[in-house]
Amino acid sequence: MEFQIHNPLDMHIHFRDGDMRDLVAPLTSETFSGALVMPNLVPPVMNLEDLKAYKSRIEQSVWSDNFTPYMTVFFHEWLTRNALEEIKDYVTTIKLYPAGITTNSEGGITSILSDTNKRIFGDMQDLWMILSIHGETGDFVMDREANFMPNYLEIAREFPNLKIIMEHITTKVALETMEMYPNLHATITLQHLEITLDDVAGGALQPHLFCKPIAKRYEDRDALLAAALSAHPKISFGSDSAPHPQSAKECCGCAAWVFTSPIALQVLTQLFEENGKLENLQKFVSDNAVNIYGLTPNTKTVTLEKQDFTVPEIYGNVVPYKAGETLAWSIKSIS
Ligand SMILES: [Zn+2]
Repeated sequence: MEFQIHNPLDMHIHFRDGDMRDLVAPLTSETFSGALVMPNLVPPVMNLEDLKAYKSRIEQSVWSDNFTPYMTVFFHEWLTRNALEEIKDYVTTIKLYPAGITTNSEGGITSILSDTNKRIFGDMQDLWMILSIHGETGDFVMDREANFMPNYLEIAREFPNLKIIMEHITTKVALETMEMYPNLHATITLQHLEITLDDVAGGALQPHLFCKPIAKRYEDRDALLAAALSAHPKISFGSDSAPHPQSAKECCGCAAWVFTSPIALQVLTQLFEENGKLENLQKFVSDNAVNIYGLTPNTKTVTLEKQDFTVPEIYGNVVPYKAGETLAWSIKSIS
């Protein structure tokens, strides 16, 4: 049995920089047509100059003209109208991080709904730019996403023509919030379709499943999976795949995040097949993103076959999701 995916897109990826970028960027560019690259480097990608330099470093890492890094800039309070106009044609989204909420987000935003930010949201709306948001507060870890929802609602209501992406949603309440305004959209990762907090910390702690936002309850996982399997048109796949060296995961102070890039298509195919929804995977992993972000992706066809594939224990110094496990689907060819 074979299955083909055309022009797969990953709308939330962390390539990092330097040696790590050289290791992981090719693992995405091999199987995906394009990916939305997050800007939280040290220092973050703040302006057109940073963006162009980072994009060219990525292009050198992947050495492929059949892959597009879709770029983002870090949302900050000095984004003037002129600055927005300057970067408009070079970015796919602008990414807003609440301050200190995740890796390398110390320079993020402390007051989401400040007058300054609203001026920027208004300018972005005028310019038809897209706003990506990491939607978490600094509250109790299981409530962080839910407690952020009023911010989404207020921005969506005040700026009805501003397209907003609720990044890596993990809860049923986020799905319900997304439905309240036509300009709210979302991405969902691979791991949040599969795991709950039980998988992370219900038994012995599983560092390679520890990610932020933390995996939530069964009812959340099930709601996310149902939305993905139905290829909800407001949702696209965004792996949030983020590499950390094995030494930063298997230690005290384990770094958050899961590395899924090299096995994402195989696992998604298995998941959609198991649930009898293989016909919807093309939309979830490509077509919806094309519509939401207005993309014209590179032409790439990935042919998967139902043939056992054992996930490598490690890629370079990064342990992947499902390391050592056997998947039901493998990649046969890419053209
Ligand atoms: Zn991320």
